[in-house]
Amino acid sequence: MTASDTAPPTHSPRRAAIVGAGISGLRAAEILEGSGQWSVHVFDKARGVGGRTSLRRANPYAFDHGAQYFTARDEGFRARVDRWITAGIVAPFDGPLAVIPSDGQVEFRDSESTERFVGVPGMNAMAKSMISGLELTTKARVASLEPEPESSPGRWALRFMDGEIVNGFDAVLVTTPAAQAAPLVAASDELRQAAESVEMTPCWAAMVAFSGRYDVPFDGAFIDQGPLSWACRNSSKVGRPGGDAWVLHGTPEWTAAHLELGPEDAARQLTEALARATGQPTPDAIHLNAHRWMYSGAHPPRSDGALFDASLGLGLAGDWLNGSKVQGAWLSGQALAEQVLSRA
Ligand SMILES: Cc1cc2nc3c(=O)[nH]c(=O)nc-3n(C[C@H](O)[C@H](O)[C@H](O)COP(=O)(O)OP(=O)(O)OC[C@H]3O[C@@H](n4cnc5c(N)ncnc54)[C@H](O)[C@@H]3O)c2cc1C
Repeated sequence: MTASDTAPPTHSPRRAAIVGAGISGLRAAEILEGSGQWSVHVFDKARGVGGRTSLRRANPYAFDHGAQYFTARDEGFRARVDRWITAGIVAPFDGPLAVIPSDGQVEFRDSESTERFVGVPGMNAMAKSMISGLELTTKARVASLEPEPESSPGRWALRFMDGEIVNGFDAVLVTTPAAQAAPLVAASDELRQAAESVEMTPCWAAMVAFSGRYDVPFDGAFIDQGPLSWACRNSSKVGRPGGDAWVLHGTPEWTAAHLELGPEDAARQLTEALARATGQPTPDAIHLNAHRWMYSGAHPPRSDGALFDASLGLGLAGDWLNGSKVQGAWLSGQALAEQVLSRA
């Protein structure tokens, strides 16, 4: 962080810090900032925005190693998705989908019954489109929230891992996965207990490119054969560069039992599992890597939507409070911003 990133401006009497620049945090940020009543500063520990809707580049390939696609059943969210489609930020994902059950017989899933969407050129495109006009500091991991003395301009200060402190916040909205949120909201028993009540499971996400096209009749498959839960021809999505590139997700159980694998080893094991599940050997893998998500999804997620302690000026949002998907994260951030506007 640099000093210019962190100096609190004086133009707004009410100032909110948002911890997390995933879909939920950015949705809360754009509503509060747009209200004119709050000035927000978004902080994220990562280099870029998007959280679990992220993209990993490995020239000439690009892999969506977190969220694969999303659905939009909520009317308001769907209206935004339509605007994103018009802007070229989102496109349908309508390649053939399959289900591979535990007995191994590939069944086709009618993809016309559910509309699925992807970001273009990567799943982080939506988040990138949401940051314009926001004060944002990346590579800033919040270590703790500290109450400020009565004499200070706000109620909360943020202490970062590098020891830096940024003060002057009237409210802090924590939009990280539950396990990362719990210690940050320890000042509120209700919020801390809510975050501690949710288990978030891990997921090894393999990123694999083949020397030629993998000849299977689907672009995505829901797989009920450990170690695999999902396989996707990522290069079939609109705007992805390079040759035949796949993302393979391990089940939570298999991932939990293999957390200590090296990335290449995890990717190799998941690639071998794909060949077993389809009965079709893969071409040679010319790129093998994997990312280990420690907090992939909530099992089961809560249905609060969002939680806000108005007396403390502390709030929680995130997919784990609303369904564990992209749309749920969006609606959770929105619900938290609405609570702040009506109660703070
Ligand atoms: C492998 C995988 C597959 C998925 N597949 C799908 C799918 O197909 N469809 C779908 O709809 N959803 C899918 N999801 C879920 C979807 O990605 C999430 O529901 C959604 O992106 C969550 O958004 P969020 O804002 O709640 O959290 P996140 O995206 O996790 O954002 C939280 C942010 O907080 C930051 N952060 C954490 N701790 C700190 C800290 N101390 N200080 C500062 N910043 C911090 C993180 O860096 C992150 O950017 C998938 C997720 C994974 C991991």
